[in-house]
Amino acid sequence: MTDFNSSYRMTLGGKRVGSDREFAAYNPATREVIAQVPDADREQLDEAVAAARSAFRSWRSSTQEERAAALNAIADAIESHAEAFMALLTKEQGKPHAGAEWEIMGSVYWLREIAAQSLPADIVLDTPDRRVVTHYSPLGVVGAIVPWNFPVLLAVWKIAPALATGNTIIVKPSPFTPLCTLKLGEICRDALPAGVFNVISGGDALGKWMTSHPGIDKIAFTGHTDTGKHVMAAAAGTLKRITLELGGNDPAIVLPDVDPKKIAPELFWAAFQNNAQFCNATKRLYVHEVIYDEVLQALVNYIQTQKVGDGAEPDTAVGPIQNQPQYEKVKDYFEDCRKNGYRFAVGGEIDPSAKGWFIPVTLVDNPPEDSRIVAEEPFGPILPVLKWRDEADVIRRANDTPYGLGASVWGQDLEAVERIGSQLEAGTVWINEIHQYGPGQAFGGHKQSGIGCENSVHGLMEYTNWKTITFNKNVGFGRGQIGKVA
Ligand code: NAD
Repeated sequence: MTDFNSSYRMTLGGKRVGSDREFAAYNPATREVIAQVPDADREQLDEAVAAARSAFRSWRSSTQEERAAALNAIADAIESHAEAFMALLTKEQGKPHAGAEWEIMGSVYWLREIAAQSLPADIVLDTPDRRVVTHYSPLGVVGAIVPWNFPVLLAVWKIAPALATGNTIIVKPSPFTPLCTLKLGEICRDALPAGVFNVISGGDALGKWMTSHPGIDKIAFTGHTDTGKHVMAAAAGTLKRITLELGGNDPAIVLPDVDPKKIAPELFWAAFQNNAQFCNATKRLYVHEVIYDEVLQALVNYIQTQKVGDGAEPDTAVGPIQNQPQYEKVKDYFEDCRKNGYRFAVGGEIDPSAKGWFIPVTLVDNPPEDSRIVAEEPFGPILPVLKWRDEADVIRRANDTPYGLGASVWGQDLEAVERIGSQLEAGTVWINEIHQYGPGQAFGGHKQSGIGCENSVHGLMEYTNWKTITFNKNVGFGRGQIGKVA
């Protein structure tokens, strides 16, 4: 059985590899060092790319069944170490056990579901004389760059479609959460041909080297919008394919006909799931003015029953901020609110002597629409609650953002929620529910929340080139004529 508590190594070309330099991974609930991990240098990235390119030569012509078997083998390997993964994920990321279970078992489920997906060739024309077929051929080597909020699931969202379509992959976890991903590489070492699935750890510089590396054909990136812009610029040098899953400032719109007590827990989890470090967290809560006070009070009451603490403790609802730079960033939003005299309906006081990077769950009572807490993505447990009266106006306010990742609408009037939802500019709009994802459901951002999508056949296509083969069975009679189709 693999030891999950020590000895974190990279997986390059099927080999277990350390590095001359190392960096520390911390437990955000205690600020203690968990382990030292390899900090790859450029030569090691070259080694990973060479291994992935070499493996691509045979992996590209593997059968659909062989690739499906590989994804199922990864799923089995995670499942058989599920408890160890969950504990390590809570320790390095901070999320409570229920969230770790969702992520790890979700990863198993995703791998198995994507294994069952395929992209059969499209037969465009098939006559006695001519046959035209569009195939989906793999791109080559994929570089996957992953953030720290869902380190395992968001890696799997890249590994599964990349391998299923015949590519090989090099995964770079965030330097803040490298441990589970390094273990994932380790437990898959014997399940896949060497070089098909590589894991390399390092800082942001390693991500930059990947995005400009001539031996990498596609970058699948999840992270901050600003970083996504750097990725896109660097990838342009070699015209790499890119998928960018970026930041969000998701609005939730609450209609006047909801029951405040019933809706409060739903809205709480919409905003504060995953310690409020969730691309799709509700980050602006628009409540109709006739029930604003009641909903705000019901939320305050509910928040007072929810514990902020170490995710390893069974009764914790909201864990710490994952890392120190993010903690400082979130603290700055508190300062900004205080400086501008906005009222905290609950929370607001950060205890600097706390053992971990803890921030109390905080609601800001109706701050101005152009305040930083409304206009930006804080990525922490501080939520502006805003009043609305006019439907057209709240839709305009909800859409008045460079982001377009997700949105939700809540109300009993099903015509109204659908009418409002259909006008929101976002890749996913949830109505009377939230954070429902699926392997068959395309997920991606509008506007500056991303380019391309993950999951579903649309997500699979992002890992392929179209390759159309036109075949004339009568040699020498095949010259095309403009205006004459087929
Ligand atoms: P980040 O952009 O700082 O880092 C993400 C990854 O990019 C890390 O692995 C990092 O090392 C790497 N990186 C940093 N600079 C790079 C560069 N110049 N070139 C290449 N790689 C580089 O993001 P984060 O702080 O880890 O994650 C939080 C952000 O991610 C939030 O904005 C959140 O909304 C977003 N996010 C989006 C989704 C989505 O699906 N749309 C999901 C989760 C998180």
